[in-house]
Amino acid sequence: MKSPPEPDLQLRGKLIRSLGALREMLPGSFVERTRACGRPNCHCTDGKRLHSQYQISVLIDGKPRALNIPAEWVENVRQKIGMRRRFDAAADTICKINLKRFLKEKEGRQA
Ligand SMILES: [Zn+2]
Repeated sequence: MKSPPEPDLQLRGKLIRSLGALREMLPGSFVERTRACGRPNCHCTDGKRLHSQYQISVLIDGKPRALNIPAEWVENVRQKIGMRRRFDAAADTICKINLKRFLKEKEGRQA
């Protein structure tokens, strides 16, 4: 006899299967800074049309670092940092499901 489908297990399976797509995830957060370059004839001397500098803010060996991102990598890196958030959210949900199952099992054992 086939047991009825459990929504929690279906969700857990779906989340687990989705994790492979997140394998290129990167840690840290995405930062955009604006700055003046210091060249006397540049448009940024007006203080408004500043240059954008994109960075990853990340811990390396426990120390905070800000790493510059080449302009052509910006979209790609932004997506990879976003993958980490999705990974963490999936892990949280999976842990909640498993904790619920653990508590239920424990309750059943004591009954
Ligand atoms: Zn400039």
